[in-house]
Amino acid sequence: MTPERPENNEAYRGKTVIVTGAANGIGRAVAKAFAAEHARVILADIDEPAGSGLERSLNASGGTALFLRTDVSNPDSIRRMIAETVTKTGQIDILINNAGIAAYASFDELAVDEWDRVLNTNLRGAFLCSQEAARHMTNGGAIVNMASTRALMSEPDWEAYAASKGGLLSLTHAMALSLAPKRIIVNAISPGWIHTRDPKNLRSIDHSQHPAGRVGKPEDIARACLFLCHPENRFITGEQLVIDGGMTRKMIYEH
Ligand code: NAD
Repeated sequence: MTPERPENNEAYRGKTVIVTGAANGIGRAVAKAFAAEHARVILADIDEPAGSGLERSLNASGGTALFLRTDVSNPDSIRRMIAETVTKTGQIDILINNAGIAAYASFDELAVDEWDRVLNTNLRGAFLCSQEAARHMTNGGAIVNMASTRALMSEPDWEAYAASKGGLLSLTHAMALSLAPKRIIVNAISPGWIHTRDPKNLRSIDHSQHPAGRVGKPEDIARACLFLCHPENRFITGEQLVIDGGMTRKMIYEH
């Protein structure tokens, strides 16, 4: 095995990985997955109690994690998080733009402030984190944007969220081209229904309606992040990986 083709369990050792929205849900599973691979994980989130708690538990179990209170809807907060990351670790290797808010409002009542809140968190936040982080990805790197199958299909009254996630898919291919000269690959994951709370609350129909036979778990997305950021997979860039148990492939006619 040459150094260019590291063993799976060595690919992330000592790498600096920023995960936004790392304190809960999918981001928490992504942070744990990279920590288990011996990465230095920056937990960037607004939820201080949950983020600090995760930092303590990862460090207690042999990982290297640092919680930095960050609001991705605030450009100054993003700049501070990136500057502190670089001060502490010297460089950045991987950025997972995961922080996001789900929001729906009736089409007629969706207010400008709410539109801005959703877009500034889900879309502008991912762009600004990428812009700041890319300046410090001096050895190349990988960025993953957490989109959604709601970028591809809809229920009524999800305009702001759907637009933010559709924007993320376009941002992904735009950045893949702009950052290619810096050897930074950029991909998106579009999760379907990923249950982040107690699985006991799910009904059997929740599982059975999925062609895969079950609702998704945060770990399904975490494994995909490891795959997309792995140095052996650098031929994949500008792409979207839909992880939804087959739901967006299911044709539905009402009889
Ligand atoms: P979650 O609500 O469980 O966790 C989101 C995390 O982001 C929280 O820790 C929260 O504190 C943090 N966050 C929210 N606003 C923030 C801000 N302004 N700055 C920094 N951190 C902030 O959500 P989740 O279900 O784990 O979703 C994670 C991502 O995956 C989101 O982008 C979401 O849109 C996307 N997604 C989730 C699903 C799903 O079914 N769970 C499906 C498709 C897409």
